[in-house]
Amino acid sequence: MKILVLNCGSSSIKYQFIDTKEKIALAKGVVERIGMSSAVLSHSRYDGDGIKIVGEILDHTIAIEYVLGVILSKNHGVIDSKDDIEAVGHRVVHGGETFSDSVLITDEVMQVLQDNIELAPLHNPPNIKGIQAVKRILPNVPQCAVFDTAFHTKMPPKSFLYGIPYELYKKHKIRKYGFHGTSHSYVAHKAAEILGKNINELKIVTAHLGNGCSMSAVQDGISVDTSMGFTPLEGLIMGTRSGDADPSLILYIMGKEGLSLSEAGTLLNKHSGLIGISGVSSDMRELIAAIKEGNKRAKYAFDIFCYRIKKYLGSYAAAMGGLDAFVFTGGIGENSSEVRSEVCSNLEFLGIELDEERNNSNNEIISKSSSKVPVLRIPTNEELVIALDTGRIVGAMKSVN
Ligand code: ADP
Repeated sequence: MKILVLNCGSSSIKYQFIDTKEKIALAKGVVERIGMSSAVLSHSRYDGDGIKIVGEILDHTIAIEYVLGVILSKNHGVIDSKDDIEAVGHRVVHGGETFSDSVLITDEVMQVLQDNIELAPLHNPPNIKGIQAVKRILPNVPQCAVFDTAFHTKMPPKSFLYGIPYELYKKHKIRKYGFHGTSHSYVAHKAAEILGKNINELKIVTAHLGNGCSMSAVQDGISVDTSMGFTPLEGLIMGTRSGDADPSLILYIMGKEGLSLSEAGTLLNKHSGLIGISGVSSDMRELIAAIKEGNKRAKYAFDIFCYRIKKYLGSYAAAMGGLDAFVFTGGIGENSSEVRSEVCSNLEFLGIELDEERNNSNNEIISKSSSKVPVLRIPTNEELVIALDTGRIVGAMKSVN
């Protein structure tokens, strides 16, 4: 099946056009600066051909029309007719407690997504805009939603409830939801496959380290705990997010600095984490370059980042009563041998022995052959999961009709 996968953000849309039979992206790209007169579409085809288009792209509908334009274009495209798009799969950030799996998008599903906006005010609205835009442009093409939260919906109450009055969970749905579920699920399954083991018999810790960062404890194929929480702010130190912090400190800062609620949110989400500590950058590459030049705050940021990952790894091994594999993924996890090396240092007691040569060569397995717990570096592929899920749902629907 040929499926268009869309990841719609507030000012950007990432896309891949995937052939699910071959499991390859025929084309991929991103539209950035949506809403501005100088928006940019960067498109590349499987054979290396590419094109950049600058234009006035004022909303998501126009952006998706541009995407279809390049996919269908004579010189840079991969299909001749809109009819070749058999389905559209969307990454949707928040499925709340309702969606434990991917779904076909119907009017009822749209209503639930609208209802969940309160839980994901930054992410769900652009996801919804993307779905509505496709409905306008390709009214007869089925669309599916694949949720970042779905993989975590089987967490037990001891993992997802907070130490606050239970009534607040019932009244306002305040609980841990977790995010990056598609990625955690993909790399955990891939790790089991690489190790030639059954995922239903493994205790795996997965670390998705990108601009946003989270870890999951995956026991017998189920996410039993994860570091992001009610929102993506909890857990690890991230590019611009603080991760775990004493909740009282924000009240104190608000008082001291005279911040409003929204300013406090911006402080924790946009000006904290690696950028906040280092004052240099939220980008790990720039941070490592600054460390090499002797920047002390950049080194603090790097150390705190790695230390937090190490602590979560230990706590998840304890929570699961053991550890069979540890997986790195995401832009930092896949590319930074420095981070992987620091995180895995002094973990022999846990059965982890990193092989520095394998680590520096970006191998799939980066631990020593003698390491009781294999450490893996697995490039994530959320788009492929979204395409395969969409293909499964639409395929089943077609066979019923
Ligand atoms: P997103 O979460 O937006 O999908 P990515 O998964 O692409 O982001 O990860 C972005 C992060 O990956 C950035 O911090 C970037 O510095 C980091 N990164 C990418 N390449 C490298 C590299 N070679 N070394 C270290 N960090 C890298």
